Amino acid sequence: MKVLSVASEVYPLVKTGGLADVAGALPLALKGHGVSVKTLMPGYPAVLSAVKDAERVLSFDSLLGGKAEVLEVEHQGLDLLILHSPTFFDRPGGPYADATGKDHFDNWRRFAALSKAGAMIAQAGLEGWKPDIVHVHDWQAAMLPAYMRYAPEPEVPTLITIHNIAFQGQFGADIFPYLELPPHAFGIDGVEYFGGVGYLKAGLQTSWAISTVSPSYAEEILTPEFGMGLEGLLSLRHSDLHGIVNGIDAHVWDPAADPAVKVNYTASTLKTRAGNKRAVADRFGLTKGEGPLFCVISRLTWQKGMDLLAEAVDDLVHLGGRLAVLGSGDRALENAFHAAAARHPGSVSVLSIYDEPLSHLMQAGSDAIIIPSRFEPCGLTQLYGLRYGCVPVVARTGGLNDTVIDASHAALATKAATGISFGPVTAPNLRRAIRRAVRLYHDPKVWTQLQKQGMKSDVSWEKSAGLYAALYSELLAKKGA
Ligand code: ADP
Repeated sequence: MKVLSVASEVYPLVKTGGLADVAGALPLALKGHGVSVKTLMPGYPAVLSAVKDAERVLSFDSLLGGKAEVLEVEHQGLDLLILHSPTFFDRPGGPYADATGKDHFDNWRRFAALSKAGAMIAQAGLEGWKPDIVHVHDWQAAMLPAYMRYAPEPEVPTLITIHNIAFQGQFGADIFPYLELPPHAFGIDGVEYFGGVGYLKAGLQTSWAISTVSPSYAEEILTPEFGMGLEGLLSLRHSDLHGIVNGIDAHVWDPAADPAVKVNYTASTLKTRAGNKRAVADRFGLTKGEGPLFCVISRLTWQKGMDLLAEAVDDLVHLGGRLAVLGSGDRALENAFHAAAARHPGSVSVLSIYDEPLSHLMQAGSDAIIIPSRFEPCGLTQLYGLRYGCVPVVARTGGLNDTVIDASHAALATKAATGISFGPVTAPNLRRAIRRAVRLYHDPKVWTQLQKQGMKSDVSWEKSAGLYAALYSELLAKKGA
């Protein structure tokens, strides 16, 4: 089976969050299920400079007004199609925003162009290759199924995956004339959304099937609390909605071989993690005490519950804990953590940078990772934590709920527990969870058991890649029917 996957970020070339990890790892995992994937992504400067010997396979004189071509190249096992268009992608800043954090003014055109290029590749094919299925990710690629729905050629079955419904790609109605869609596409069963154009809405409306990245989140987004306005549409399409939990790339994230880790280890040499703990403490200047070392590796945002953690920091320190925070985000939250670090020198420390190798070392050296998200479609850092024996302390929501087994009395007694979870997501409940973690930490036998059980969890892509392959087959059968 041949699949065209379309995403706006792909690890290891460009990453701002979990989407990149998934878009980079799933194609590799699908190989074992008889599925070959070509991945279409934008040609940001970092992408073009990282790949070598790319070959032009398609060119457009005008793709929504910009000159563009598609380059094909193999990169670290991924078969990439790169949409090279200086008009859209050759600029400083990140994939979505400039260096000051302001969204690029023409994101609507940049990502409509990505979607339109994908639709054209899917329908006309490339020389010697035509996809059986198209799999698009998030709002940046979500217009693809709409382009296909309103094209004269027959459709190729499409699957859209929601990685985070909070990001929807909503724009004013004034962009519609420039999208090169027929006038009737601007309707409730097309791309129209609250009087404007909604990219994610368009994708959810027009794709053949919808998935999201955990079974719990698939249920949650049917409710107003989590659906962010799309719960009605999703409820209508309930029978086409699937929840498939993300896996992790077990080669990139392997404590026994990870080059970013100071002392490599396995579940049977857990004691040697102490060397990594020292390295993390050194890097963050956490010189006070010998207590449990908690970490955070996250965007510092309301979604991630970081305001709740900022409220709980003093407690954590009074309990003898230390906290290393790697992340940036909302200015007010960054300030709150820097203030906590100033209140507790040697016990709390913050690095507001993006540092992939350091994130690996932190998973290998911290005792626990705190993830108090208000909503979490899947979450990857708890999966890395499980694999690295860094016990996850998580909010009971979305994918966190599906992947961490709370250390209740029963789960401890049966040795099933893999972490600590709490809900509802409030500051007092987070404080209680941290207190439980500290208590368990001081019982080394129980703590080691928790770490070992976590390390046994199946966090690989194996099972989930099989579920995606089965879903693709289902869609193919639908096409034939
Ligand atoms: P989201 O995609 O919502 O941000 P996820 O948990 O799904 O959250 O994925 C976040 C990814 O980004 C993980 O791979 C995590 O390790 C990584 N990450 C987040 N912040 C940083 C940072 N400051 N430095 C390095 N990696 C980070």
